[in-house]
Amino acid sequence: MAEYSPPTTEQEFQVNFAQLKPRMNRTEAMLESSRCLFCFDAPCIQACPSGIDIPQFIRQINTGNVTGAARTIYEANYFGNACGKVCPTEVLCEGACVYNLQDVKPIEIGRLQSFATRAQMDSGEALFGPGTPTGRRVAVIGAGPAGISCACELRALGHEVDVFEAKAQPSGLTVYGVAPYKITNEETLAEMAYLQGQFGYTVHYNAPIASRADVQKLEADYDAVFLGIGLGSTSTLGLPGEDRVGCVGAVEFIEQLRQQHHAVAVGRRVVVLGGGNTAMDAASESARMGAEHVTLAYRRSKSDMGAYDFEYDLAKGVGVEGLFNVAPVEITGNGKVEGVRFVRTATTGGQVQPVPGSEFVVPCDMVIKATGQSKQTVFLGLIEGLQLDAKGRIILDSRTGQTTNPRYFAAGDAGNGGAEVVNAATEAKVTARGIHEYLMSLK
Ligand SMILES: Cc1cc2nc3c(=O)[nH]c(=O)nc-3n(C[C@H](O)[C@H](O)[C@H](O)COP(=O)(O)OP(=O)(O)OC[C@H]3O[C@@H](n4cnc5c(N)ncnc54)[C@H](O)[C@@H]3O)c2cc1C
Ligand code: SF4
Repeated sequence: MAEYSPPTTEQEFQVNFAQLKPRMNRTEAMLESSRCLFCFDAPCIQACPSGIDIPQFIRQINTGNVTGAARTIYEANYFGNACGKVCPTEVLCEGACVYNLQDVKPIEIGRLQSFATRAQMDSGEALFGPGTPTGRRVAVIGAGPAGISCACELRALGHEVDVFEAKAQPSGLTVYGVAPYKITNEETLAEMAYLQGQFGYTVHYNAPIASRADVQKLEADYDAVFLGIGLGSTSTLGLPGEDRVGCVGAVEFIEQLRQQHHAVAVGRRVVVLGGGNTAMDAASESARMGAEHVTLAYRRSKSDMGAYDFEYDLAKGVGVEGLFNVAPVEITGNGKVEGVRFVRTATTGGQVQPVPGSEFVVPCDMVIKATGQSKQTVFLGLIEGLQLDAKGRIILDSRTGQTTNPRYFAAGDAGNGGAEVVNAATEAKVTARGIHEYLMSLK
C-alpha cells in the first residue's frame, strides 16, 4: 500500500522529499553545540575522512564565531555544506561520537556543519581567494566534488584553472545523483556559486572531453590535466528483456528525478535490483514518488547487502519490501515491462548458486537496475600511457594523485572506484597539492 501520493506540483514533491537533515536555526545550533564535550583526541575527527576539527568548529559556533566555524570546515573540505547533509554521518563522525557509548543521542555534527557553512554563504563574505599567480595552467575534466575541490585548491596555490564539464550544472552526482531528501538542488548550487565566486576558476558547461583531438588540445594548452570524471552509466545485466520499456538504470532514473522532480513518471509496482546504497535510494525515491508497491530484490541475504543499515531502514520506513536470496533471470513483458522472473539462490562457499526449479515472477511495470556504475574505460583509453587496474580504476600515486602519464592526475570515484562525496573532495585537495609540486618542478 502506497504511503505517499504521487506529487503533482513542486510543493507536493518537496513535502514527499522533506529534508532528512533540515537546516538548523541559530537557537537550535546554540543548544546543540552546547552539548559537545570537546573531547581530547576526539573520535569524531578520526572518523571524518577529511579530518575536520569538529570540536573546534562546534566551539566556534557556541561562542558565536560562525565565520570561524565555517573557515575551520572549509579549510578541510570545500564541500563542507554539502557533506554536512549528504555524508553518511551515522557511520562516520556521529557514529564515533562518545555519546553513543552512553546510549545518548550523538551530537548532530552534520547539521551543525551545514548551519555554519550556510550562514557564511548567506553572508556573502569570502573566506578565501586565489593565490599569487604562478603562470601555470591546469585543465580539470569534470565539475564534480573531485574536480571542483581540485580547482579551488589549485587556485589557492595560484594556478590558472579551466574546468570542462559534460553536463549543464556543477557538483557532479551531488546534484545529479544524491537523493533529493538529503540535499536540494538550491543548496548544492549555492555552495558551488560561493566557491567559484571566491576562487575564480572558469567552468565550461556542456563541454564533454570526448575525442583524442579534445585530449590533444588540452595537452597543448595546459601544463597538467586533472581527471575528475567519476564513473559512467549503470552497468548492463545482460538479461533477456532488459531493453523493455520501463526497465531503467538507477543512476539515469535518479538523474531525471533530481532535474525534473514531480514531472518524472514512476511505475505503480516497482522492482529495484541491487543491495547497495544506490538501490536503497532508488527504492525510497520510487516510494516517495507514489509507487503503490516497491520491492527491493537482492541475490544474497539481507546481512550481505553492501548498503548501510540506516539506508535500508530508511527504505523500509517508506514501505519498501525486501526480497532476498533471489536473482533476476528475465525481464518479462510484451514491449513494456510486466514483471521480473527470479530464481531463488543459495550461497555455498561464498558462491551464489541458483536453486533449480524455484523460478517465480514478481509482476511490476517498472524495473530499476541498481547494480553498479560502469567505468569510463573507453574515454580513458584516449590518454596515452594511462594505466587502469583490473577493475577499471585509474592507477595513481596515493600521495600525489599522479597517474602513469605524468601530466595527468586523478581523484574521486574514477580513482577509488566509487565512494562518497567527502572522499572525492578530500582526495582531490591532496591531489591538487601533488599537481602543485609537479608544476613547480617544471622548467
Ligand atoms: C545514486 C547515487 C547516490 C549517492 N548518494 C551519496 C550520498 O548520499 N552521500 C555521499 O556522500 N555520496 C553519495 N554518492 C557518491 C558520490 O556522489 C560520489 O562518490 C561523488 O560524487 C564522486 O565525485 P567525483 O567528482 O569523483 O565524480 P562525479 O560526482 O561523478 O562527477 C564527475 C563529473 O565529471 C563529468 N564528466 C565525466 N566525464 C566527463 C568528460 N569526458 N568530459 C567532461 N566532463 C565529464 C560528469 O558529468 C560529472 O559532473 C552517491 C552516488 C550515486 C550514484
Ligand atoms: S566525539 Fe561528540 S562530544 Fe566528543 S568532540 Fe566529537 S562531537 Fe563533541
